Amino acid sequence: MTHPLLDLPPLSAARFASIEDRVARLLSTEQDVVITQGEALLPLEGAIRSAAGPGTTALNVVTGPYGQTFGNWLRDCGARVIDLAVPFHTAVTAEQIREAFTEHPEIDFVSLVHAEAATGNTNPVAEIGEVVRRHGALFYLDAVASVGAEPVLTDAWGVDLCVIGAQKAMGGPAGVSAVSVSGRAWARMAANPGAPRRSYLSLLDWKERWTDAGRTALPHAPAQLEMLALEACVERIEKVGLRAVMDRHAAAAAAARAGARALGGGLEPYVRRDAEAAPVATTLRAPSDADASELVAWALETDPGLPLAAGGGALASEMIRVNHYGADATVDVVRGCLAALGDALARKGLTVDVDAALRAATEGSRR
Ligand SMILES: *Cc1c(COP(=O)(O)O)cnc(C)c1O
Repeated sequence: MTHPLLDLPPLSAARFASIEDRVARLLSTEQDVVITQGEALLPLEGAIRSAAGPGTTALNVVTGPYGQTFGNWLRDCGARVIDLAVPFHTAVTAEQIREAFTEHPEIDFVSLVHAEAATGNTNPVAEIGEVVRRHGALFYLDAVASVGAEPVLTDAWGVDLCVIGAQKAMGGPAGVSAVSVSGRAWARMAANPGAPRRSYLSLLDWKERWTDAGRTALPHAPAQLEMLALEACVERIEKVGLRAVMDRHAAAAAAARAGARALGGGLEPYVRRDAEAAPVATTLRAPSDADASELVAWALETDPGLPLAAGGGALASEMIRVNHYGADATVDVVRGCLAALGDALARKGLTVDVDAALRAATEGSRR
């Protein structure tokens, strides 16, 4: 008996290449795009280990947990790392990047997370890119949580290594990911004796054996199911239009912020300024006398399917995440989250106005 997920014809090199090209269009780039056969941590780590080494001075911008991870990889590679950390309720500014270059003109690598689903902030990449370009540093960007939710203009912003995964706003699979690689980034890797070779983390192996070889023969068996899912997800975005997908996320975020403010009970948006809030997910600060994990657990008793989570690690007691991305990027889902959080706050003995929150969510989403 044939099975729809199992008995598939082989995925051809031509089809694999065409999926790469479609991802490149989504990233507004003419650079090489390498699809990596694993979750986004694979190209995130591979790109750092390939491009950074003992000669590197890296400015590592920390606006959430991923920035911390990148700093650790950079140090692993022997790079000198200058961490620029900002409070998780804000974004970094281009001015702060400018100041870092003034203080350390030797910086030749900048790592930045565009939007952080885990903290709910988004950084002004266009302005930062201008500063990075002016100083000639290599620009590495984690766009996993921004692609599909807000513009990612890889070439226009001068991004040398732009990493995406499909599992957030694209509403796709988590098991494949991609990285765009500029000519400058390839040159940096080629000159780096520590760049992984004959390794799962090696981007240079893919360049040599796939991209430069004309993309006619795959070096290894492709992750076929994930590639088909990635193709389907890009196709769906092309069909409804990237703009419409981004608008849906922006409306959900606006609804979540307006609704949370109107709900009362001491709940408030974690990221204070609207302009610094990521469209992919909205983080909320729990009232000081309530525990975020407990509120989330109670809210999920109402409806276990709601995309609610407590913050990770040290944020678990104070942060509530409304993960309104992918199929959950709708005002209705956000309204469901607000109603359930309202119930949880009321159970805690706090005064809330759920009707006002639902109204504000709908009105807020239209602005
Ligand atoms: C979600 C996300 C990733 C992917 O990592 P997971 O831990 O597997 O979810 C990477 N970077 C950012 C900024 C993300 O939001």
